Amino acid sequence: MEQKEFKAESKRLLEMMINSIYTHKEIFLRELISNASDALDKLYFKSMEENLGLTRADMRIRLEANKDARTLTISDNGIGMTYDELENNLGTIAQSGSFEFKRDNEKAEDVDVIGQFGVGFYSAFMVAKKVTVVSKAYGSDKAYIWQSEGADGYTISEAEKDTNGTVITLEIKDNAEEENYDDYLQVYKIRELVKRYSDYIRYPIVMDVEHEKLKEGTGKDGLDSENAEYEKEIVTETLNSQIPVWKKAKSELSDEEYNQFYKDKFYDYSDPLMHIHTKTEGTATYSALLYIPEKVPYDYYSKNFEKGLQLYSSGVMIMEKCADLLPDHFSFVKGLVDSEDLSLNISREMLQHDRQLKIIAKSVEKSIKNELKKCLKNDREKYEKFFEAFGIQLKYGIYEAYGMNKDELQDLLLFKTSNGGTTTLSEYYSRMKGVKAEEENEENAENAAENTSENTSENPDEQKYIYFASGSSISRIESLPQTERVRDKGFEILYLTDNVDEFCLQMMHDYKGKEFKSVSADDLGLETEEEKEEVKKEQEDNKPLFDYMTEKLGGKVKSVRLSQRLKNHPVCITSEGMLSVEMEKVLSAMPNAQNAKAEKILEINPSHAIFQKLKELYETDKDKAGDYAEILYDQALLIEGMPIENPVEFSNKICEIMAK
Ligand code: ADP
Repeated sequence: MEQKEFKAESKRLLEMMINSIYTHKEIFLRELISNASDALDKLYFKSMEENLGLTRADMRIRLEANKDARTLTISDNGIGMTYDELENNLGTIAQSGSFEFKRDNEKAEDVDVIGQFGVGFYSAFMVAKKVTVVSKAYGSDKAYIWQSEGADGYTISEAEKDTNGTVITLEIKDNAEEENYDDYLQVYKIRELVKRYSDYIRYPIVMDVEHEKLKEGTGKDGLDSENAEYEKEIVTETLNSQIPVWKKAKSELSDEEYNQFYKDKFYDYSDPLMHIHTKTEGTATYSALLYIPEKVPYDYYSKNFEKGLQLYSSGVMIMEKCADLLPDHFSFVKGLVDSEDLSLNISREMLQHDRQLKIIAKSVEKSIKNELKKCLKNDREKYEKFFEAFGIQLKYGIYEAYGMNKDELQDLLLFKTSNGGTTTLSEYYSRMKGVKAEEENEENAENAAENTSENTSENPDEQKYIYFASGSSISRIESLPQTERVRDKGFEILYLTDNVDEFCLQMMHDYKGKEFKSVSADDLGLETEEEKEEVKKEQEDNKPLFDYMTEKLGGKVKSVRLSQRLKNHPVCITSEGMLSVEMEKVLSAMPNAQNAKAEKILEINPSHAIFQKLKELYETDKDKAGDYAEILYDQALLIEGMPIENPVEFSNKICEIMAK
């Protein structure tokens, strides 16, 4: 028999292929199964065209491993190959009969031929030292055998085969250091690979599997009883699930089925909080099945966590974690995308260019957003559960994007509020004094920013800002002196308890034109011009006292001044500039803390008796006024939940006063 050489280019290509195209040798099985599935599809199509009366139910792919002979066989009862086809398709690399089929039968409905590059077959040489193909084309009375040991060439000769189809036998390489080739002869491994890559091939992939079975008439007292005897039994198992859940209609699927699929596929013990099942056509044609877990996955905050969705093309898994399909703020979403219009690269491990992928990613993001919005509207309790687990991710998302994406995400945020419970920004907005009327009129609401500034002078009661207060817990925030006046005015306050909250709001700057304002900020917009004037005058009259106190505090505060936000409490700490006291706390708790300091202001309540006392002492006992400044500063820090520099000295000073 004549030994034929691969065409010159093919030879080099084959070597390249074997050594470099694929990162994982194991995908050879995916490639050969995909070819078998294509062969079955082609036969099915032929039967439909020519009324041959074949049905899909008769079609299957069979796997067989023989450890002694070190062979793995993949056979199908599909269209098969003639002599010429063996010669052309397997003798020429990059010749794809499947590609031609698709080109010639563009309208072939209900078949999804996978092959296109004409290289997949040769991946067999990554694990096999010899490949034998016996094939008989449908309707032909002759069968042929094609054999090759790799780059040197191949032989074709006549063979015996009863039925149409193709049998591919791989003589598996001997074990080597870099790869445990024996694995490819193990049932468990083969099962695993089919599940991973070819689970949704629409034809059954069957394999005979040996099981131990209790011999009849033995083991009467239970399986482990002494007289139990076992015998071997061969069972033909179907390894793949065939129909992708996501290809079924929503109406066909129960919540249980959705949940079970999630638990099996994404290794979670609990049901997901929600699922999103979409089929999209148009600029991007794809199906997606997405899940939001109920709880934060245990590795979510570890370095090993990788975001991403599984990517399928025509039911074949291409990528386990396609990170490009999920924005960071939705990194908690699990699931998959299946699309037929992706341009895959030759190894089908990557996408050729990602334009299509980007369109899909955008559309996936939109679906997630819409589902969350729907949940927020219809099932608040569930949404709160979601937000409790993953809300922080959305806030980080806004912060990290410098607020550029705020229009997309701001209406998904929840905050705790002084009204009790949680609020969205839109709910807060609708309760703001003086803006409700505007909001009813859509157009005005859009221009809320300008309207607000124009209206302030006319309507002193109108709420100018969205107020917020930060602290480690609700009860701490509620007892912050700074919140007194705002609360007194009847304005609602957002309670920020997550570290990222204030950073996020800073990036957002405003909601519908209403600026976010910390209750510790400079100007809360609460006082009338007269009140402001009054305090300003008092401030000026006592300038020497405040300068003296500032000096005594030795750079710890930028200034000491009279407060316009305190009602009953004597003192509080606020800040000027971008960095608040709360932000300083967060930053200094970070692993590589930079010494970021807020510009602190010590505020004294002008109507508190302590102010009179300070004025008095400044005239009669300056040193004492200095001591008082230090005590008051430390007290203000303690109220904020900040550490004080010298607790011993603080306590001594208090005791000294008490002893008098
Ligand atoms: P691709 O599948 O991308 O076309 P392959 O190198 O895997 O490339 O296969 C080359 C061609 O060989 C296929 O297009 C098909 O025409 C033919 N072929 C491969 N395997 C089979 C098979 N099991 N039955 C029939 N034809 C096959």
